[in-house]
Amino acid sequence: MLSRSIPCLWITFCLRLCCYLDSGEAQIAKEVILLDSKAQQTELEWISHPPSGWEEISGLDENYTPIRTYQVCQVMEPNQNNWLRTNWIEKGNAQRIFVEMKFTLRDCNSLPGVVGACKETFNLYYQETDSEVGRILRENQFVKIDTIAADESFTQGDLGERKMKLNTEVRIIGPLSRRGFYLAFQDVGACIALVSVKVYYKKCWSIIENLATFPDTVTGSEFSSLVEVEGMCVSDAEEEADNSPKMHCSAEGEWLVPIGKCICRAGFHQKGDACEPCGRGFYKSSSQDLQCSRCPAHSFNDREGSWRCDCEDGYYRALSDPPSVACTRPPSAPQNLVYTINQTTVSLEWSPPADTGGRNDVSYRVICRRCSWEPEECVPCGPNVGYIPAQSGLVDTYMTIMDLLAHANYTFEVEAVNGVSELSRTQRLFAAVSIATGQAAPSQVSEVIKEKVQQRSIQLSWQEPQQPNGVITEYEIKYYEKDQKDRIYSTVRSKSTSATVNNLKPSTAYVFQIRAFTEAGYGTYGPRLEITTKEEATAAIVSSEQNPVIIIAVVAVAGTIILVFMVFGFIIGRRHCGYSKADQEGDEELYFQFKFPGTKTYIDPETYEDPNRAVHQFAKELDASCIKIERVIGAGEFGEVCSGRLKLPGKRDVSVAIKTLKVGYTEKQRRDFLCEASIMGQFDHPNVVHLEGVVTRGKPVMIVIEYMENGSLDAFLRKHDGQFTVIQLVGMLRGIAAGMRYLSDMGYVHRDLAARNILVNSNLVCKVSDFGLSRVIDDDPEAVYTTTGGKIPVRWTAPEAIQYRKFTSASDVWSYGIVMWEVMSYGERPYWDMSNQDVIKAIEEGYRLPAPMDCPPGLHQLMLDCWQKDRAERPKFDQIVGILDKMIRNPNTLKTPVGTCTRPISPLLDQSTPDFTAFCSVGEWLEAIKMERYRDNFTAAGYSSLESVARMSIEDVMSLGITLVGHQKKIMSSIQTMRAQMLHLHGTGVQV
Ligand code: AMP
Repeated sequence: MLSRSIPCLWITFCLRLCCYLDSGEAQIAKEVILLDSKAQQTELEWISHPPSGWEEISGLDENYTPIRTYQVCQVMEPNQNNWLRTNWIEKGNAQRIFVEMKFTLRDCNSLPGVVGACKETFNLYYQETDSEVGRILRENQFVKIDTIAADESFTQGDLGERKMKLNTEVRIIGPLSRRGFYLAFQDVGACIALVSVKVYYKKCWSIIENLATFPDTVTGSEFSSLVEVEGMCVSDAEEEADNSPKMHCSAEGEWLVPIGKCICRAGFHQKGDACEPCGRGFYKSSSQDLQCSRCPAHSFNDREGSWRCDCEDGYYRALSDPPSVACTRPPSAPQNLVYTINQTTVSLEWSPPADTGGRNDVSYRVICRRCSWEPEECVPCGPNVGYIPAQSGLVDTYMTIMDLLAHANYTFEVEAVNGVSELSRTQRLFAAVSIATGQAAPSQVSEVIKEKVQQRSIQLSWQEPQQPNGVITEYEIKYYEKDQKDRIYSTVRSKSTSATVNNLKPSTAYVFQIRAFTEAGYGTYGPRLEITTKEEATAAIVSSEQNPVIIIAVVAVAGTIILVFMVFGFIIGRRHCGYSKADQEGDEELYFQFKFPGTKTYIDPETYEDPNRAVHQFAKELDASCIKIERVIGAGEFGEVCSGRLKLPGKRDVSVAIKTLKVGYTEKQRRDFLCEASIMGQFDHPNVVHLEGVVTRGKPVMIVIEYMENGSLDAFLRKHDGQFTVIQLVGMLRGIAAGMRYLSDMGYVHRDLAARNILVNSNLVCKVSDFGLSRVIDDDPEAVYTTTGGKIPVRWTAPEAIQYRKFTSASDVWSYGIVMWEVMSYGERPYWDMSNQDVIKAIEEGYRLPAPMDCPPGLHQLMLDCWQKDRAERPKFDQIVGILDKMIRNPNTLKTPVGTCTRPISPLLDQSTPDFTAFCSVGEWLEAIKMERYRDNFTAAGYSSLESVARMSIEDVMSLGITLVGHQKKIMSSIQTMRAQMLHLHGTGVQV
């Protein structure tokens, strides 16, 4: 039968066809296959109706894998209606179903003997159902999808053979509403081999795009529809602000038009389509950053996924610091703090800290404290102190502090701060200076009274200013003729609160102003006072000129005055004194141009035959009723020493010390007792104890002195051992030196200068006290009899004074050196427990006290200078004050470099060879041997340490360019000594 024979031909066609079947596989990625006939190798078991129609036939593809095909070829008989229905196909989510048919179709012409009934098409149907409907096929329930024709049924081969061409047709159905459907193929008389049927729908497969996951998405029902899909950020990613991720699934199953994105959150970075944590030691502070960064300097983290790094101990991040900047720390202390002091104004200047803590927002603040002698008793300076430009937030390295109290002790701490200072719990670092302010100038003299107005003179009196701020030594009265065009000033000075201005013109208006003068300088002038002199009374002069009685009286008075001057001049001349207070007492000197009063000369009260006169010459007699004794504070040689108060009329009451003369005194004792007052009364200096006055006209006899709250310096230092800064100690020494300079300028030799004879007030101001004649030293418990006669405080006294009683200011300088040593060692006994004889011997042999512990080398050098054997070589007090001032101004010079300036092993230094081990620098050493001119030569050749100098040979010294043989020898011999001392001190040799 033809009908049977024809399909057999197909098999050969089919086998050759199979190579085409795979061509579509690559595109299937976006497709979800619901049915693929080719995939099934067992029978398909579709329903074929009538059974003579479609026939299921097995074949092989090119891999010899069996495939199932349906064929029909009833071309010989008319009215064919052969149906083939698939099994039920569940549609799932699909909305648009694709049906792909691969088939071959023979054209009717190619079939021999076929007549009109032959067809070349077939029809495709579908039926929607919610479930399978059994194997009965009802044609009318099917909906026609299309008539399918072959594109090309056969082609002619090169050799004239016929080749079968596989046709692929795809039809789309949808949208579908039921759960599934059937497909049916209707043949109406064609010769067809249905090689494969594939039913599928399209889907956009899950994808990660821009760190967002887009789920599997079934395409829309329409060809043109795009399904918008929201993406979900992958883990550890977040949506970019206002830019949530979206994509569109096209009908073709392709993702189109990505919008927005996700980004890895802080602490994570992108790796492929995921966010991975930053590794240890890395951080990412924000999702906006792309990469993890290494922890900035001085920070760390030891966990993954960090958004920031933690600061190392001692380092901080300011609130405003982003995590990307290094951790920083507070700056170190400012350096090189120096100050200048002008009465009650202090200027501070410093260098920036060595370590800014790694920041560039360093500013400075100053903390001001006013201290009493107890360091713990410092109190904040309060609001009355002025800071220029400001107390804190300073960018520049200088400032001025104004309106400090006079004669007060202040500590200024200059601290460098930066953005993390507040966060730091470490100790504050600051540079500090302790400063004793000077005296403030006195306030205005405002209450001026015209006592007496005459034709050519005016007598004025006034009240002491409200705030004298010290001892007023003088008033200056400035005046000028009111109507004078040029306004030429004249000045008159007075030591009291009244003055008479002479040589004025009659009937002339004058303007007066007064100001007070203290150690601190002049105060400001008080208000102007206008006074007109009296009219000239010619008649009176004429009458007096003509009146012999008046003339005689005038001549007598003048003669008396001259006589007094002559007698007085004689007395003073005989006693070698160039100055007598009597010259001026109650008077005022008249100057017409500015002239600073010269220094007075000390007058030895012993030169007075009547010691009582001397006392009243120099000391004010006080009314005992003005003195209130409060308590006993000590015992003096002549009686008790008490504290109390003195209230003089018109003045505020002041604290005083009252030395009393015990009852039953002898006349000599009275004289000796008052002698101190006669001496003290001549002095007027802030560093010399001030005598308020004496009571000689009542009992007990008293000497009233300014009260010094902290008593004697030696006991005070011992009580506060180690409690003061070097600057404070040097400040005390400076005060003592200034007092001594004043005394030596006046020609007064103290003879018993020692810490026990220095008094200290509440502001730590030291004042020289204990004045007496040479024999008064006898009272000093330290004084011992020497072979030269007389008692001498051996440990404090210069050798020439011990040996032949040569007491001079130079011997006071020696004693001052000992006081320096006492101060720097907090009241240690000079030469410890050595006997006086041993001390004398040791000094004679050239030994000197070594530097006390922590004593800056410069200060010890100054002591050694004071202890020069040759008194002419010792510095003068003036120079000592200058040196100390310089040290105070530049506190760096007072630093004791750790480990360099050590206490020598031997208790005493051999003065003939200075202690080179105590020098801190080559410069200091050169200075000590007076060879500082070669400082640059040493520096240029690289000799920066004393150790390197100690290794130098004579050739080395010469190679520095030191050509003078004398200098070479001096330097070389000093180097050899230094070497020996180093050996002695460290027990180690220096290789030369
Ligand atoms: P003098 O007789 O001067 O050695 O004084 C004996 C003691 O009295 C001294 O050691 C001090 O403690 C005390 N003293 C003397 N003068 C004063 C003074 N002006 N203020 C306070 N205490 C003083």
